[in-house]
Amino acid sequence: MRPGRCKPLTDLSPLSRSGPLTEAAEPLSTEDLALVEQARAALLRHYRPFWHTLAAAIRGTDGRVWTGLHLGATVGRLSICAEAVALGRAVLEGDGGVETVVAVRHPKPEEACQDLEVVPPCGACREMFFDFSPDARIILPGPGKVLLKVPLRALLPNPYRR
Ligand SMILES: [Zn+2]
Repeated sequence: MRPGRCKPLTDLSPLSRSGPLTEAAEPLSTEDLALVEQARAALLRHYRPFWHTLAAAIRGTDGRVWTGLHLGATVGRLSICAEAVALGRAVLEGDGGVETVVAVRHPKPEEACQDLEVVPPCGACREMFFDFSPDARIILPGPGKVLLKVPLRALLPNPYRR
């Protein structure tokens, strides 16, 4: 981390503190904070620019935790999200039920701020989790980057159906 190069987390207007996501949010538990730390630790261990730039951690409905790494690919569209890797492990090694998910991103080398940050899941991952565990909870940054835990359904109010 390079101190002083990250944007401050304050200076929010009262209006930006509320909205559908913050209204749907639940308080983070001690286990949720530990889940964030497990994702961070996995990324710090395995970060490799371009190839492994994100990590995810899933707490299953059985209480067990699985981590996953983003898999970069020379053919960009073949890249695999960290959440998908973690979900695969949860299905293989657990009961496949997802209670809570979090993903963290490592900044690119050229970015001024080198802090790891929690990021929301991409649209495809939202759909994937909806297929496997529609009642999952997602930890993501809210206004001012304060962490929120929200129901997946709040992030995907109109999921794809075929
Ligand atoms: Zn994704």
